Amino acid sequence: MAEDTIDVTFTCSKCGPTKIELPDDYTDDDHAKCKSCGADFGPYGDIKKRAMKHAKAEVDKMLKGAFKGLKGWKVK
Ligand SMILES: [Zn+2]
Repeated sequence: MAEDTIDVTFTCSKCGPTKIELPDDYTDDDHAKCKSCGADFGPYGDIKKRAMKHAKAEVDKMLKGAFKGLKGWKVK
């Protein structure tokens, strides 16, 4: 990885799916912007929280799928 960026796609109200841009040494208080048009996505801390929630939901979904059809646990 050459760039220290987060590869998360956001949807900009102007450009559609885009990437976020953050200043160097950003903190949770710094605002993330649309890489294409500069639209404000809000504080990075909020975005992080949302992303984590989203990631958790995805993992939950995955786990549910993985355990679907499982009849029982075999404990050795
Ligand atoms: Zn945009």
